[in-house]
Amino acid sequence: LPEYAFIGRSNVGKSSLINMLTSRKSLAKTSGRPGKTQLINHFLINHDWFLVDLPGYGYAKVSKSIKKVFQKFITQYLEQREQLVTAFVLVDIRHKPQPVDQDFMQYLGEKGIPFSIIFTKADKLKPKAIDNHVEDYKNILLETWEEMPNYFITSSSKDIGKEEVLQYIDSLNQSFILD
Ligand code: GDP
Repeated sequence: LPEYAFIGRSNVGKSSLINMLTSRKSLAKTSGRPGKTQLINHFLINHDWFLVDLPGYGYAKVSKSIKKVFQKFITQYLEQREQLVTAFVLVDIRHKPQPVDQDFMQYLGEKGIPFSIIFTKADKLKPKAIDNHVEDYKNILLETWEEMPNYFITSSSKDIGKEEVLQYIDSLNQSFILD
């Protein structure tokens, strides 16, 4: 089954987003290998795809380099998982791109792992400010990327962006099945 990974800095709102996306869904939390600490959690959604909850990265006190803050098997997951369709990189809409986020997107690009951006906590800004922040984000990313990755504006507390993300996943699932 196709898998979609969700990842971001700690406190970005990942758990809240996952709760929003999975509410009222047919959901089964599947256990990983017995005896292993559950760093990577798989949720089976609607019997046809897995939401993969990856641990947060970018704790301020550790090294700048994303490779050092990552557990080895997270990179192994990202690089070796054939079922992984797309990674969703979560960023707080209020913040400018942080080096650790940019490094991580760079890493995904180098490994050829498709990703989309999910802006979180959109309820914290007025619509105009959201536009400005997204525009700033685009300008910075376009210094290294040819085009802006797919992105979604979400708020878990106001239930914003849920259908857009789920529809996008559904559309990718269709192509995954056809492959
Ligand atoms: P995680 O560490 O990335 O899993 O983040 P959490 O989902 O635990 O959220 C971190 C903090 O941000 C919590 O205090 C949440 O209540 C808050 N938060 C998460 N999503 C939203 C949102 O959409 N809007 C607002 N205003 N706060 C949010």
